[in-house]
Amino acid sequence: MIETVGFDRPQGRYAAEVDCTGMTLMPGLIDAHFHAFATEVDTAKCEKFPRTYEAQRARLNLEAALRRGFTTVRDVGGGDHGTWLAAEQGLFPSPRFFFCGRAFSQTGGHGDGRAPHEAHDLCGCAPTGVLSDLIDGVDGLRKAAREALRQGAHHLKIFMSGGISTPSDPIWYLQFSDDEIMAVVDEAARRGCYVAAHAYTADSIARAVAFGVRSIEHGNLIDAETAHKVANAGAFIVPTLVTYEAFHRYGSESGAADSTLEKLSDVRERGLEAIRLCKSAGVRLGFGTDLLGSLHYLQREEFILRSKVEAPVDVLKSATSINAAILNMDGKLGVIAPGAFADMVLIDGNPLTDISLLGVESRAILQIWSRGRQIV
Ligand SMILES: [Zn+2]
Repeated sequence: MIETVGFDRPQGRYAAEVDCTGMTLMPGLIDAHFHAFATEVDTAKCEKFPRTYEAQRARLNLEAALRRGFTTVRDVGGGDHGTWLAAEQGLFPSPRFFFCGRAFSQTGGHGDGRAPHEAHDLCGCAPTGVLSDLIDGVDGLRKAAREALRQGAHHLKIFMSGGISTPSDPIWYLQFSDDEIMAVVDEAARRGCYVAAHAYTADSIARAVAFGVRSIEHGNLIDAETAHKVANAGAFIVPTLVTYEAFHRYGSESGAADSTLEKLSDVRERGLEAIRLCKSAGVRLGFGTDLLGSLHYLQREEFILRSKVEAPVDVLKSATSINAAILNMDGKLGVIAPGAFADMVLIDGNPLTDISLLGVESRAILQIWSRGRQIV
């Protein structure tokens, strides 16, 4: 915990002085769209691994994120209570871990990884994935929401439009019925929690905010009218530009499914334009990455992509104070102020004038503190 911020020399037995001349001390980075359990680019492969093995690989993803300067991640599909517990207890070096359990998908939705020719499910025993579960109907969703909240989920995640990494749902598909979405939002609200929704198209985003979804994931195909609806609702949008760039550059060699690469251009080209529209409508933009498997190392490339349309200070706010607001952790995370948790990074230079200091190859992050302890 940070006690004071000022120019006085620190006092006390454990006080240490760090010479930061020419450097920038800033709040630890927050990634609001992370999948610790996406340990393969083709996530369907993860389903064949033993859970204990997959947990160890997720641990490595988290540890690597921390060493890149991300002192907090919000997991939006796959992360669970056990991972949170191990991270909280310091069993391994990890960012603070906010999780939702497995995301909720309707049958044939973005969480349904089955190709069209694969077995149908009429017996009610839908396959569960690593990142998401197939759940249909108001009753099923209420029960799944209550179960996730019982296990300590910090938010709930639903898929409300098609996505690029599943084989049989077009991007424009409006997923879940109105009643189903409202049931999940209601369950979350009564538990003091909120819902994040995967949504690309303007239609799906407008639906999400109309039903009380608070955090829109991706949002690439938004239009100006819908951006104003999001702003008026006080909701957030969490762009994840780097994942499309990563698929575009390295997708085929890193094992992405053919169907993913085919759908990619639908959303990749509109990412920057979506950010422009959101900014002029006054939408609060978070910062996320959504990287999978071996592509996780590109996590900080998101800073570079975002800075094509935003000032560095705005990108940094997204990755710190705005993401903290999404997590309902204002004043605790994403700031250096009395009462905040002491998660900080020390950068050689000034990222407000040179955002490339946070690029993938940069070695400018000299020190990282997590929970007041220096870990790098
Ligand atoms: Zn995602």
